Amino acid sequence: MTRIVVVGAGSAGFNAARALCRQLGDSAEVVLVNPSDYFLYVPLLPEVAAGILDPRRVAVSLPGALPDVRLAPGTVHTVDLPGKAVTYQDVDGHDRTVTYHGRLMVEPDLSVPGQPGLWACGDAAAVPDLTRPGEVTAMTAQHAQRQGARVGKNIAAALGRGKRKPYRHRNLGFVVDLGGFDGAADPLGVPLGGFPAKVVTRGYHLSAMPGNRVRTAIDRAEHATLGAQTQRLDLVRGKQVIPLDTDPPN
Ligand SMILES: Cc1cc2nc3c(=O)[nH]c(=O)nc-3n(C[C@H](O)[C@H](O)[C@H](O)COP(=O)(O)OP(=O)(O)OC[C@H]3O[C@@H](n4cnc5c(N)ncnc54)[C@H](O)[C@@H]3O)c2cc1C
Repeated sequence: MTRIVVVGAGSAGFNAARALCRQLGDSAEVVLVNPSDYFLYVPLLPEVAAGILDPRRVAVSLPGALPDVRLAPGTVHTVDLPGKAVTYQDVDGHDRTVTYHGRLMVEPDLSVPGQPGLWACGDAAAVPDLTRPGEVTAMTAQHAQRQGARVGKNIAAALGRGKRKPYRHRNLGFVVDLGGFDGAADPLGVPLGGFPAKVVTRGYHLSAMPGNRVRTAIDRAEHATLGAQTQRLDLVRGKQVIPLDTDPPN
């Protein structure tokens, strides 16, 4: 059976793995290598930092969201291109190490030139922007999600399912949450500010998240009506742990 290894479960990798499963079904095994077992919806991290969202909202379980993908928790440190092998962090690292500097140049269909079987997308890739000749696409979740879905379909097409197409996406505008009741956005070129921009921004991110939407909406509603909760009980791990002083008091 064909095995496809996706490195990294960010916006690009997550959507690539999901598109591959949908396109190829049981005919291929999709393996996803990622240091954690959750997808992190990065654009909402500022809302976590501001105490609006519980940190758990922006972490979507990978096994839960991608049940047909084989998750391999780990960090890739070696990519052996001729051998088509990817080595994890916990494997002995005496093999040849291939490192890439900057973004990987890719063809419009997201394949890496001269490296059959290797594809790249998202922030790690310099993807030609077909809507702005001579430019590459910006490093945004908007592009990463769509490139992930496209690369999944193109890999499936290379395996005989569907049609290979170039990545093309016209920027739909920006959305920025400025805190409080403020925002800035220009969806489809319409300039917005203040509360309307905030509603558009939050609505966009809610629709773009692959999971936890209802919980995120509830966190926001709670924050908007009751204000921020400044106290928090949490788990403290590893080096952050302060040893309890068991010496008798003087
Ligand atoms: C605070 C913040 C706010 C942002 N807000 C917005 C916004 O509002 N709108 C917008 O469009 N964009 C926003 N961005 C940018 C957007 O988040 C990125 O463009 C997008 O996440 C890129 O997706 P990606 O999949 O390419 O990379 P990432 O999301 O960075 O995912 C990379 C994945 O690969 C894994 N990984 C890394 N190295 C290895 C390895 N060696 N082995 C295995 N796995 C590995 C990582 O753990 C991670 O899961 C924001 C970014 C930040 C930091």
